[in-house]
Amino acid sequence: MDDYTVRLIDDLPCDGMIMESPDGHANIYISARLTEERQKRVTLHELEHLRCGHLHKEGSVEEMEKEADEKSAISAKKISNR
Ligand SMILES: [Zn+2]
Repeated sequence: MDDYTVRLIDDLPCDGMIMESPDGHANIYISARLTEERQKRVTLHELEHLRCGHLHKEGSVEEMEKEADEKSAISAKKISNR
């Protein structure tokens, strides 16, 4: 799960997304139009999808979004407290 690449994309239609290539490498795309702070938050959010195994999970998108949001808020807090 540590195998991932983060890319900033100029014309991304959303704040961020994560997609896995067939070889299992995770690609995270973040909108370059966001502020730097927001880019960090969205990156953490997408990483939680990866960490929680959401890429291979069937289930409610809403719940997975909520889980990623909650956990990334916690990691953002830990980073800012360092
Ligand atoms: Zn999400």
